[in-house]
Amino acid sequence: MRGVVMCGPGDVRVEEREVPQLVAPTDAILKVVASCICGSDLWPYRGADATAEPTPMGHEYVGIVEAVGADVKNVTVGDFVVGSFFASDNTCEICRSGYQTHCVQRQPGAATGAQAEYLRVPLADGTLVATPGMPDADLVPSLLAASDVLGTGWFAAVAAEVGPGKTVAVVGDGAVGLLGVLAAKQLGAERIIAMSRHADRQALAREFGATDIVTERGDEGVARIKELTGGLGAHSTIEAVGTQESMMQAIRATRPGGHVGYVGVSHDVSLPGQELFFSGVHLHGGPAPVRRFLPELIDLIWTRQIDPGKVFDLTLPLDQAADGYRAMDDRTAIKVLLQD
Ligand SMILES: [Zn+2]
Repeated sequence: MRGVVMCGPGDVRVEEREVPQLVAPTDAILKVVASCICGSDLWPYRGADATAEPTPMGHEYVGIVEAVGADVKNVTVGDFVVGSFFASDNTCEICRSGYQTHCVQRQPGAATGAQAEYLRVPLADGTLVATPGMPDADLVPSLLAASDVLGTGWFAAVAAEVGPGKTVAVVGDGAVGLLGVLAAKQLGAERIIAMSRHADRQALAREFGATDIVTERGDEGVARIKELTGGLGAHSTIEAVGTQESMMQAIRATRPGGHVGYVGVSHDVSLPGQELFFSGVHLHGGPAPVRRFLPELIDLIWTRQIDPGKVFDLTLPLDQAADGYRAMDDRTAIKVLLQD
């Protein structure tokens, strides 16, 4: 089968790889229907994360179950499924509390290699959720979004305690930030301030529910948020970048007693203790337990109440994955869907 392999910074290839086989009785093998390129795939692409050896890429996927191990009961051959990027049993105490990304059995590499024709998913019963039937083709991008970027944006909004009457600031205009806007709207936020300097992303943010756009960044961005909130700052701030600047921007844009939900994968972020101490701000985040939200998100998509698939503005066949990485790296595409 063909699969995407990162051979070094800037060096993405589609290579012939072995079709994955069932290893454990709790595994499932999927025929991948669609996968996509994640903002986090750009870190090794840019050389910020070392790629020691050629690495199969991709952790966002929807597919059709091709085979299941002897112990798999919740999904069967022929099911259309959405999975999360960490495999989890969904039965341990941590999973049952809603933190499946920290499952005691979690397998972080679970779904690496999803940018391929076939994929092995461990702990299939806990990790995969079947849709009510075969989706119409136009629902596939939205279901794919649920496997990571929507689930992550949703978690960020929940972690930031978004709710009715709240003012929400969103730092980051990538797919996760934009879907954080959508989540905030669904969760009843009164005002949603998207921080973006790109016209196309601003337009999508507005479509997803943003009421205000702030183009300034850093201290100026914070000042602008304060100005828009009577000098207080936002109740809830979504941080969807993962840099020192974005994290500090999120903390400083939040009012005392407010909440920051941070989901941008942290890269060399170091928080000043004294500033944090005096900020009075709650911080919660990390790798999103997407699995917690999947049943609800699939239902919202299936009943066409939300259309998160709009974040995909470029669709390419798997063979052209390298062009997709380039487009996301150049920021000429928000998010690239790979589908043959
Ligand atoms: Zn668990």
